[in-house]
Amino acid sequence: MTTELNFTASPALGRLCRWLRTLGFDCIYLHQEDRTAPDRSCSDRIYLTRHVDPNERSVIFIGQDKVLDQLKVLDMLISLKRRCVALSRCIRCNTTLINMNRHTAKLEVPEHVFISHDRFTRCPSCGRIYWPGTHVDRMEERISKLFS
Ligand SMILES: [Zn+2]
Repeated sequence: MTTELNFTASPALGRLCRWLRTLGFDCIYLHQEDRTAPDRSCSDRIYLTRHVDPNERSVIFIGQDKVLDQLKVLDMLISLKRRCVALSRCIRCNTTLINMNRHTAKLEVPEHVFISHDRFTRCPSCGRIYWPGTHVDRMEERISKLFS
């Protein structure tokens, strides 16, 4: 399952990028501000930035400081809630997670984790294993509040 929206986040928006990945959105994180990219407006990605540039299309200016406020604004503008597939993407490297066979998971996660969870996913790129609760900072709880 994939979402229809892809993003590029500018350097000042690292937390927002992490949250968007948690919500299942493809979000590339720029380590340097990309002021010169010629194809930005015809890219299939929405560029998220804190720098105002009214001539740019496919750019959303993020004026809010708090990440939950930033997400609310994005939800108003482009209906994040309707499109998100939460906890389907690797926070670390932006790759779509794949379901993991429970027998394989048994060999690779701590026993107490295996016993208390039914569903495991793995990032095919970096190998990180996820289960409900691994998305840090109580993100799941905050996601449900955000979109309630
Ligand atoms: Zn990964």
